[in-house]
Amino acid sequence: MDTQRAFTHPRHSAGTFAGRAPVPQTDSLARTILIVGAGFSGTAVAIHLLRLPHSGPLRIVLVERAQMARGVAYARRQRPYLLNVPAGRMSASSVDPLEFLAYAQRRLPEATAEDFLPRELYGQYLEASLLSAAQASPPHVRLERIHGEVVAIERVRRSSSFEVCLEKGATIAAHTVVLAPGNPQPAALAGSEKLPESRYIADPWQTPPLFHAGETVLVVGTGLTMADVVLAGQDAAQGQATIHALSRHGLLPTAQTDFHQVPDERRSTALLCAASVSLRRLVHEVRALAEDVELRGGDWREVIANARDVAPILWQRLAAHERQRFLRHVHCFWDVHRHRLPPSSWSALNELRREGRMFVHAGRILDLELAGRQVKVTWRARGLSTARTIFVDRVVNCTGPQYDVRRTRERLLRSLLAQGMVRPDVCGLGITTDDFGRLLDASSRVADNLYYIGPMLRPRYWETTAVQELRTHAERLAHRLALPAQSLPSRRCGETGSPARAIA
Ligand SMILES: Cc1cc2nc3c(=O)[nH]c(=O)nc-3n(C[C@H](O)[C@H](O)[C@H](O)COP(=O)(O)OP(=O)(O)OC[C@H]3O[C@@H](n4cnc5c(N)ncnc54)[C@H](O)[C@@H]3O)c2cc1C
Repeated sequence: MDTQRAFTHPRHSAGTFAGRAPVPQTDSLARTILIVGAGFSGTAVAIHLLRLPHSGPLRIVLVERAQMARGVAYARRQRPYLLNVPAGRMSASSVDPLEFLAYAQRRLPEATAEDFLPRELYGQYLEASLLSAAQASPPHVRLERIHGEVVAIERVRRSSSFEVCLEKGATIAAHTVVLAPGNPQPAALAGSEKLPESRYIADPWQTPPLFHAGETVLVVGTGLTMADVVLAGQDAAQGQATIHALSRHGLLPTAQTDFHQVPDERRSTALLCAASVSLRRLVHEVRALAEDVELRGGDWREVIANARDVAPILWQRLAAHERQRFLRHVHCFWDVHRHRLPPSSWSALNELRREGRMFVHAGRILDLELAGRQVKVTWRARGLSTARTIFVDRVVNCTGPQYDVRRTRERLLRSLLAQGMVRPDVCGLGITTDDFGRLLDASSRVADNLYYIGPMLRPRYWETTAVQELRTHAERLAHRLALPAQSLPSRRCGETGSPARAIA
């Protein structure tokens, strides 16, 4: 499939811009919606926008600094990493829930809805969906994709539009900007600044580490990224590396099963009532429902799926101090039950543990320093006051995204923060938005025509990591952006409709 050629067709022109001059506006009448980032979120917004009817001319500009229509999760990689979700639940469209499965079956006729397929295949599906949506769109709706990094966005004085600045100095004028820059990098580990790159992998998705036979590796973090890194690393080392995996609680993700995900009004109501009382009651209710379901021969994952369906409303019902308690005491348990591993990956990890090739620890890193050709790791086991040390050959940071925008190293976010265009969440969960995904500025005012979509929607909805949630946000946002400008309701922060219900 010649994706590049199709996109460089005059109607879907592509370009990279190196000069200082503004990028030429090929159709000055067209409303321009610029999307920063073409991972799942940005691509899904573009696809849905292209599929919707538009009364006037529309130019959709998708700017991506890495692989187009892939993002970190679905990038082309050396190793066939697996999706963590069965194919039957990975459609980018809620209107056609088996769209991805149908695409996959054209390449892998044996694939079923329950299979955990390669993530790269999912990236191909996103690329193909974008391409066919662009080809099927009417002549007055145009997609442009640009390879480059957006480093700043400035509001044009006395107007509601923007000037978007690319890394090499070019600018693009846009009426509306959608930020979809994805997951931030992990926070640096204590002492990591003293280590050379060969000994410390700061972000395994930037530099996937391949382990060597005989080496000892410390993987910090015990979630899904750890599983990917350990399994890929051990494959490279032919199972001959020794892995220590460490996280605050030392909890590993649970396994997926082929349970049936069925909406259950009765359970949802019970959870919502419990959340209105307290976090303690909510946790109790989840446990009670899970026990009940298991007693009847069901699967506890059904209850987690029910809780996930109503997670935005549950989150919004909890008082601020209860949310803090959730983050302190429940978050890690929610993560390991909600973010699960394909059964094959789960079994492979357990096999490594049984063989004495992998050890899991609960604790925290106090310091890392170079000791000869090794790294001396000083850490404290959970519940103990004394520090311990181990010596390893390499350290891999798998602690996951650092959602606290105040600590971001991203140029674009730093620039938006400096201009007061972003209000970081007080709990460090991401970016604060209104019901429509519009950014709130430093004074909590809604920013017209400036939207955010992606995993950092957590301050408002809590669960916004996976395709299931992000596709709903993408569809809602595309519908909003497709409305003619004069019909957009302009709400102030705090005036809410029923967004959580719409998302759930
Ligand atoms: C490794 C991994 C595996 C996952 N597996 C699954 C799964 O199996 N099932 C599931 O449902 N969910 C999965 N997820 C979760 C979910 O699908 C992703 O988090 C989702 O893809 C997020 O999409 P995004 O577009 O918001 O972010 P990303 O995919 O990170 O895309 C953001 C894009 O923006 C670009 N970008 C950032 N800043 C700029 C800038 N300033 N200028 C230009 N471009 C920029 C980046 O290069 C990137 O391509 C996975 C996530 C990860 C990280």
